[in-house]
Amino acid sequence: MLTERVRAVKPSMTLAVIAKVRELKARGVKIFDFGAGEPDFNTADYIKAGAVAALEENFTRYTAAGGILELREAIAARIHKDNQLDYSPDQVIVTNGGKQSIYNALQTLAQNGDEVIIPSPYWVSYPEMVVLADAKPVIVQGSEENEFRVTAAQVEEALTPNTKVFIMNSPQNPTGTVYSREEIEALAQVFVKHGIHIISDEVYDKLRYNPEPHVSIAQISEEMKALTVLVNSLSKTYAMTGWRIGFGAGPKDIIKAMTKIQSQSTSGVNSITQKAALVALSSGDEIIAERTEEFRKRRDFTVKRINSIDGLSCFMPGGAFFLFLSVAGFMDKTFGDAKVTGSIEFATTLLEQKHVAVVPGIGFGAENYIRLSYATGMDDLEEGLNRLEQFLASAGI
Ligand code: GLU
Repeated sequence: MLTERVRAVKPSMTLAVIAKVRELKARGVKIFDFGAGEPDFNTADYIKAGAVAALEENFTRYTAAGGILELREAIAARIHKDNQLDYSPDQVIVTNGGKQSIYNALQTLAQNGDEVIIPSPYWVSYPEMVVLADAKPVIVQGSEENEFRVTAAQVEEALTPNTKVFIMNSPQNPTGTVYSREEIEALAQVFVKHGIHIISDEVYDKLRYNPEPHVSIAQISEEMKALTVLVNSLSKTYAMTGWRIGFGAGPKDIIKAMTKIQSQSTSGVNSITQKAALVALSSGDEIIAERTEEFRKRRDFTVKRINSIDGLSCFMPGGAFFLFLSVAGFMDKTFGDAKVTGSIEFATTLLEQKHVAVVPGIGFGAENYIRLSYATGMDDLEEGLNRLEQFLASAGI
């Protein structure tokens, strides 16, 4: 008999869409892929060369569970440069993507009887990871008028004596929303007052399109830093999604506990990946600026195009590479011979009829929405959006 815990957990909807698209592509079907939250760029050659060198040097053995020292030093230096925050290498853990840092942090900070506040819409894995820690996800709804942000007042209202953790995510997946410094300060005041831990998922920190610098909640004050586990990843920044490399930084005792969990579960991240990550973090950042500029062009094009389609609209998001679109007006409508009553059917029918992949909003806690990733080439964006428009028009509204 499977445990109650595993029966309660839903599989990842983003990974399910990615797998389906990969399968169709392998069968030779051309897909207009707005599903995967991953850059379409390849990992840069100089980073790949770092992996090849590691192999040639036989750097192929177990590493320390929390990651090799040089990499933890490079991560600490990077956080210092980007966020003006000081962490020693023993306040840093190298993990299988940012995802494993979030998982380890939740295993460390939350348990049966605890509540974890998650702003909605949320990345698909947050509530499920809370369930895997036997804790209770408490969802606070961000309003669309406020670009889906939650306010400090809303969060304060959701607090109970059992609240242990708040999951912060800016720039946000699936909406692309960026919280301002003032908004983060207001939230931080609540967390410090009540001693709430923050897991701050900052994996899209480099994908921002406005001049204001990225603000980590850990930057707000020393008290806030002492309550925060900052999470980041090389996946989006360096187009390294499949390498599985990310990190967490925070108070020594929390990082030590997260490392203990890793030592008894997955051990250290792949040794070759760690060496490639060291090269990525120690080299110049021109590549990031170039790619962000490319994403900005795609964002501007996609937002304009979406707003020209009957029945769709969206705001201009400040970061990441997603648009979160209401398709409420298309519910209970018929597309060809398919009646669509929810976001899963909407996405499935769109994929079947037009070969356009999106992720159903229900995975992010918002039925009647879809997430569209514009991390795809301009030609595919153009044709895919044409197909989306034709699809919607076929419902005849
Ligand atoms: N974070 C990405 C996404 O939202 C990758 C898939 C995942 O791990 O969820 O699409």
